[in-house]
Amino acid sequence: MPLRLLKVLAFSIFLLSTLSITAQGQNILYTEIEKSSHDEWTVSYQSSKPIQAVMFANSPDSSRLQRWRLLSTEFSFNYINGKEVISRKDGTAFTFIKLKLTPNYVHLPKNYAPFSPFSNDGMLVHSGRFFACANICSGLENTWAMAVKAPRQDNIVVGGKVYLSETSWWDKNEGQKFYIGKQRFEVNIDYNAIVDPLLLGHIGKQLQEALPSMMAVLDKSYGALQHKPMLFASVSTTNDGSFGRQGGTLPNQIFMHWYGDVKHQKRDEFETLWFFAHEAAHMYQNLPGKAITPLDNWLHEGHAEMMAKKIIISLLPQYSDLVAGKVSKAEANCEVATQNSSLSEQVKAGNYQSLYDCGLYIFNMIDFNYQGDNGAEALWMEFIKQASNGHKIDSHELISLAQRNYHLAHTQADDFRKIVGIN
Ligand SMILES: [Zn+2]
Repeated sequence: MPLRLLKVLAFSIFLLSTLSITAQGQNILYTEIEKSSHDEWTVSYQSSKPIQAVMFANSPDSSRLQRWRLLSTEFSFNYINGKEVISRKDGTAFTFIKLKLTPNYVHLPKNYAPFSPFSNDGMLVHSGRFFACANICSGLENTWAMAVKAPRQDNIVVGGKVYLSETSWWDKNEGQKFYIGKQRFEVNIDYNAIVDPLLLGHIGKQLQEALPSMMAVLDKSYGALQHKPMLFASVSTTNDGSFGRQGGTLPNQIFMHWYGDVKHQKRDEFETLWFFAHEAAHMYQNLPGKAITPLDNWLHEGHAEMMAKKIIISLLPQYSDLVAGKVSKAEANCEVATQNSSLSEQVKAGNYQSLYDCGLYIFNMIDFNYQGDNGAEALWMEFIKQASNGHKIDSHELISLAQRNYHLAHTQADDFRKIVGIN
């Protein structure tokens, strides 16, 4: 038998056996998100056997209790020990539950927004927000059955493909963004894009101009991306006066959302370009899994900040002074935040900015002290290679590697460990 066929066969058997074990052991809920022709959004969970509860896999806060409305009065929605749980009021078992959603932008702490609306009624939705388990989530579940329905005149874009009326897929890890709306995606050489028409005049134009050259810088350091990514850029108003922007990346996806009154948006070209470069860098990080703890997020945030610095200096040398200012500010902020504390304590207290500040500071120092070119890039690639071979993605591994192979002095490595809060 040809080796390739043998491999395919072995993989299929593996998939079948893991899926049936998962299905037997876990009872995967069938999740269906629907946009109606009246622009109402609902989600339903269907179980193949009676269950006592539906528990959400991630609850960064209890906002589902206010934003998701149960369509039956026989159920109740509760926040128990940091988990959002739906059950029947009389405690009996059930197999189906449906809720109406509030499809506007909401900022969730250190989590991607579930809904990023476009100004022209399009919507970018985060599938991971809908991951839920039958009865209880152990934290080990990583197979989710997702389905989406939308009016026929809308395009449903999932995994870089366009569907009409409905589609379904198995989801995993942090989930993915999918789009529902009337826009078609624009095909570019380096990426495909759905950019809000309201952004096209200014930020969107700037983004479309900057992204290809930023990706070219990253291609040179890390190699070209294996798959053409999809860019989503959207803008929406808010009712509560809040404003800001959120960006992020998921495998083969980069997304940016601006919210609130546009007159509040900072029209700072340097900061906007830095933001683009930071998000572009995430696409090239190639992390084989998640960081072990929220504290270790300084690794990929710090590395993305470091690459943003390098990208701006290489493409826009006129901003060198602003770049230097930003780096010194990060260093000063990190010093203040960790003077009588550690990054670990800062993150627990909700100071997520310290992940970026201390992350940039540490990577910048390593890069500066390295007696060769492109220290931060080489260190990152070796770190990822190690992680693919089973090493942890944590602070200890990175600092030790920098000490071993990137000329990081012993005393400085210990300083970094103190900043991070590890021994
Ligand atoms: Zn980031």
